Amino acid sequence: MNDTTPDIITSAGNAEVKRLRSLHERKFRRQTGWFLAEGMRICTEAVALGWRMHRLAYLASRSNDSQVGALLQALSRDGGRALPVTESLLARVSRKDNPQMVLGAFEQRWRGADEVVPDPTRCWVALDRVRDPGNLGTIMRTADATGARGVILIGDCTDPYSVEAVRASMGAVFNVELAHMSEAEFLAFSAGWPGRIVGTALPASVDYREADYSGPLILLMGNEQAGLTDALMTACSQLVRMPMLGRSDSLNLAVASGLALYEVLRR
Ligand code: SAM
Repeated sequence: MNDTTPDIITSAGNAEVKRLRSLHERKFRRQTGWFLAEGMRICTEAVALGWRMHRLAYLASRSNDSQVGALLQALSRDGGRALPVTESLLARVSRKDNPQMVLGAFEQRWRGADEVVPDPTRCWVALDRVRDPGNLGTIMRTADATGARGVILIGDCTDPYSVEAVRASMGAVFNVELAHMSEAEFLAFSAGWPGRIVGTALPASVDYREADYSGPLILLMGNEQAGLTDALMTACSQLVRMPMLGRSDSLNLAVASGLALYEVLRR
């Protein structure tokens, strides 16, 4: 330990600990523009990708760990604050019994509609009112895995920066671009889109393996309960379906997104 080493925080009443814990709530994520990401690999990758880290809570007993040291260096470059804590406090902040060694608070990034640029080789995934954070995190992970450029959230969606969505994304949240539009904004935006918009919907007659995914592409997926709105279906250049051979009437949204994204990759 040297003079610049911060004191170990042991109290749950500490203002910084309370601030990190508040990031479990959307209201405080909105207010601060921050979000939580857990784990050494994910925090290290986020920093390498240039994401701004505001706080790093870490196990005080691991202060001399070289990976923690590298994160602390990045934190100090960003003007952030180091928070050495006990394991029980780390568990309280992450709300997990077996917390990871580190937990970072990062600055959220949102793209405006003008930054959702057509890219002939990397598609965008648009999600109509996605509600389940596990689905959204899984879709971000699959979008990342298949080289998609980003995810457009349409209407009232779950927060991609919630702890649950970030966890389910396994770090992919740091490697896909995120934009949000109301349905009206997306409809206006889609009218000027120079490429295809392929929607997945149960009423479609075209098999998703037969569709044309060439050129700048938006792959449009519907809400878990209601599917795509009529207006969004109308905005599509093509609607496709995945065969349903058994008694289930539909696939889970994240599974359907995964199938479609891997089909896009084959183009
Ligand atoms: N009851 C909803 C409906 O009528 O569309 C089911 C929604 S489904 C759980 C969620 C989304 O996953 C759908 O809106 C669609 O985008 C996609 N999806 C799921 N199964 C599909 C299938 N067999 N064919 C095409 N899209 C499918």
